[in-house]
Amino acid sequence: MKYRGRFAPSPTGPLHAGSLVAALASWLDARAHGGRWLVRIEDVDRPRCPPGTDTVVLGQLAACALTSDEPVLWQSTRDDAYAAALQRLLDGGRAYPCGCTRAEIDAVWAARGVPAQRHAERPYPGTCRDGLHGKPARAVRLRVDAGIVEWHDRRLGTQRQDVGAEVGDFVLKRADGIWAYQLAVVVDDAAQGITDVVRGEDLADNTPRQIVLRQALGLPAPRHLHTPLVLAADGQKLSKQNGARALELADPVAALAAAGAVLGLPPIAAPTAAEWLARAVPAWAGIMRIP
Ligand code: GLU
Repeated sequence: MKYRGRFAPSPTGPLHAGSLVAALASWLDARAHGGRWLVRIEDVDRPRCPPGTDTVVLGQLAACALTSDEPVLWQSTRDDAYAAALQRLLDGGRAYPCGCTRAEIDAVWAARGVPAQRHAERPYPGTCRDGLHGKPARAVRLRVDAGIVEWHDRRLGTQRQDVGAEVGDFVLKRADGIWAYQLAVVVDDAAQGITDVVRGEDLADNTPRQIVLRQALGLPAPRHLHTPLVLAADGQKLSKQNGARALELADPVAALAAAGAVLGLPPIAAPTAAEWLARAVPAWAGIMRIP
């Protein structure tokens, strides 16, 4: 199987130091395996993507000599593919319309004596599994069977989650009509023939959901590698939300070196970003090549 990797930024803001780590790791891993590296702009949540940010992100990548080996794919052009996948799931009874509001879901848990906890995700209680109970359809959910999903991460090792119990029937199309990240990423990874998903560790807990969805759609399973996160000064994950600064690209070699250090690469001296990358490939192969 010929290696095909990707970097899939959501253009909700410019890349920051943490996003460059994922971009660099995915690029190095593709090169170390003689593979191709694709960039996909995940602008499926259009209201959260300020116009022009995709161009900024692609410019930041280009400044680091990271350019897609194939034409960049924008998720905002992929509605038909997502609709077709959703229809297959609906036709097969694997997906169903849901009429619950967030308040109604909270009320179900409150009635079961589980108080609403801030930031704690509770599984969908399954209210609309057997029909809408006269309510109008809002979202579409995947029917998730109970059972442990076990998967392997090249860095984190064996991982397990009971998606049915911990997440429940998750959303594929939101009440506002926007495709859920889970559906878009699974459909596009398959459409682009991605063999290796290399991305930040903050997304590792999405992987079991994507595995369940992939199986429901009968799509092939990629390998996974989740990379270390860059932490902010307060120990929190660096993110656009906690004010991570946009990547400073006056000195792309320094930015790459900082990202490389997070990935455990030794210091590499190089006059240009392209040469830094070329020298980093054997170093990456030495620590991360798949036997
Ligand atoms: N678009 C997602 C993000 O920027 C990453 C998706 C992925 O790599 O699977 O957080």
